[in-house]
Amino acid sequence: MKAFIENPNLLIKEFNEMAAIAQKKAFITIGIELQKKEIETLKNYRGELCDLKKQFIERNLENEANLIYCIDNSLLAVQYELQMLVNIKEDKMSEAWGNLVSAQVTYGTVVRNYPFKFETDNGYVERLEMYEKLLFPKMLFASVGGIIKKSNCSICKEPYSKCEHIKGRLYKGELCVREITEMELEEGSLVDAPANKHCRMLNISYDGKIVDLLTLREEAQTANIGIANSGVGN
Ligand SMILES: [Zn+2]
Repeated sequence: MKAFIENPNLLIKEFNEMAAIAQKKAFITIGIELQKKEIETLKNYRGELCDLKKQFIERNLENEANLIYCIDNSLLAVQYELQMLVNIKEDKMSEAWGNLVSAQVTYGTVVRNYPFKFETDNGYVERLEMYEKLLFPKMLFASVGGIIKKSNCSICKEPYSKCEHIKGRLYKGELCVREITEMELEEGSLVDAPANKHCRMLNISYDGKIVDLLTLREEAQTANIGIANSGVGN
């Protein structure tokens, strides 16, 4: 990985090769064991990227560190995509939805932040949208409204309104997030275009029964009408 410190273009080349190999496995017909192996390959490579990012930051190379963020998260999005396909084959539909949404959110931060001439207009956003339309039924989302009482900047940990950082931007290879630590809940409502697609209705009334929205399988009698907010880890 040392050569990349001198020439980040080599890194982009290697990334393109890694992404191309991983995307060859991202079809529903590909063997599940090959998809699982590719997920591990991506995880290991992303670990190496993390080390390289530290070296860039030590040398104060902010653009290069931001490039690593974009490469890492592009590969993480494909990793989520592969995991979604594995979930579907294993009949884990709720997890499949969670991984699709994570892929969309993760790739979204890349599209908004690419620091170099970095190919983001590649149809990947549309690809993830197609999965949503073709593989999943129409989802019902919940939106939570409220007043933010306390929030911190994830970069400097100062109160969010007191610092210069802007949420959704990259700083030395880290995404600035507004971390809400205290909030007064006002309302929960059902919406079509939610801010958070992890936050969804879990079940619906169908044919006189309470059923899982994704599988239409009947829920146990004790189940409540639930809303999930199940982000998945990476
Ligand atoms: Zn800050």
